[in-house]
Amino acid sequence: MGLHPFTLSFRNELEPKFLEDYYLTSILLLRISFIAGFLYYGSFTLLDYLVIPESVRIVSVIRFLVVCPVILIVYALSFTRGFRKYWQLAASLAVIVAGLGIVAMTVVVPGIGRDDYYVGMFLILIYCYMLVRLRFIPATITGWTIVVLYALSLKLYPGVEPQTAIANLFFLIAGNILGMLGGYALEHYTRREFFYRHLLLVERQKVEEANVHLEEKVRIKTAELEQDLAERKKVEKELIRAKERAEESDRFKTAFLANISHEIRTPMNGIIGFTSLLQEKGLSDEKKNNYINIIQKSGQRLLDTINDLINVSRIETGIDTVVNEVVDLNGLTEDLYRFFLPEAEQKGLVLSFTSKLPEGLARLKTDREKYISIITNLIKNAIKYTFEGSIAFGLKVLPEREVCTIEFFIRDTGIGISADKLEAVFDRFIKVSHPKTQAIEGSGLGLSITKSYVELLGGTISVESEEEKGSTFRFTLPCEPAEVEH
Ligand code: ADP
Repeated sequence: MGLHPFTLSFRNELEPKFLEDYYLTSILLLRISFIAGFLYYGSFTLLDYLVIPESVRIVSVIRFLVVCPVILIVYALSFTRGFRKYWQLAASLAVIVAGLGIVAMTVVVPGIGRDDYYVGMFLILIYCYMLVRLRFIPATITGWTIVVLYALSLKLYPGVEPQTAIANLFFLIAGNILGMLGGYALEHYTRREFFYRHLLLVERQKVEEANVHLEEKVRIKTAELEQDLAERKKVEKELIRAKERAEESDRFKTAFLANISHEIRTPMNGIIGFTSLLQEKGLSDEKKNNYINIIQKSGQRLLDTINDLINVSRIETGIDTVVNEVVDLNGLTEDLYRFFLPEAEQKGLVLSFTSKLPEGLARLKTDREKYISIITNLIKNAIKYTFEGSIAFGLKVLPEREVCTIEFFIRDTGIGISADKLEAVFDRFIKVSHPKTQAIEGSGLGLSITKSYVELLGGTISVESEEEKGSTFRFTLPCEPAEVEH
């Protein structure tokens, strides 16, 4: 506890807290004992009348004009603001005045008063050590002051038998020492009770802090667990997605192999079949030419399919890289237009190259081969799937884009594509069935390769179409005009 053995004060920061607490827990008792003291002191007038009737007057002056007013004044002061600063001093003075009153009575009352009224000081000592909540040291000082005052009175105002004086003083000193012991014990227990109360408070605070800490820990742990759970769910979802992708890829591989074998077997059968037919004797020139034509076409189709397959595998393995060079898009597209014009005209279609890029933007850096491949495939498809009408294509700059973007478009009046197949046409091996296209050859790989190439060049491809009315394919390219190289 760390109490000073004599003053009983705490040796640490607890002392001011104790003093504050001691005042708060004492003030009510102090007030009650002052009021009780006032009544008590006054009520002894009855004894005065019975024992010392001739001295009632002078004793009453001491009781009612000196001691009782002092008690009342201190009582009244206990309601003032600054009282807690000097309350021990004030209480001590009030007790000393009360003690002095008794001493005065023993001096002024002859006979029995002189010898026996000193007993009243024991009552004062009881008040001093037990009731007015004086701490041990102030109470001891107060007690001894009263004893000394009585001893002085014996010295200054002789008249008491020496034996009586010695006996009275002896009892008073003994009573005071007993009071001191009682006061010491009382304060010691009060401080001990305060100390444990304080400890309890500190422990409770620690527990509360630990609780808060624990709650925080639980909160953090819960958040971590929730995050863990979310991550686990995410991983689970990714796993499921990966599994689905793997299964899809597996299905795709199977379909791919089936498609490849079909795409290869069909022209191969044509070649082998018609080659053996050619061997027949006596064939007319017309038939021979016809067979040779079919063999040639089958060979071409086989070559196209193999080329497509090679392109697909190059895209898949990622070895197909972009090789940029300065390309004159207007010129190159014009060349392709000229190249396909005869084929379109042969089919009775009007092919037109409707819009070109402004001169400043026409020359830009891109992959020439891929650009040719994209346009070729789109024009070929347009011619393939259009049976009457026209095909128009062109280049333009998209005005509404933040970054300069070029668009190639190709519009045909062909068979069109049903809405539910529009997105799928860019997938591999997708061929939209249509009565008119049953006989048309195609591997269903062209648009998927085209899409991959457009994306490699930094653009996007899209299609709008209406069945039996026609289709419009568009793709974009970023148009960073290339510096003209001389
Ligand atoms: P294919 O070699 O079969 O033409 P593509 O990948 O180039 O393969 O095209 C996929 C499918 O998209 C074609 O089979 C066809 O049904 C449809 N398609 C492509 N272009 C057009 C078009 N211009 N008009 C109508 N249908 C088209």
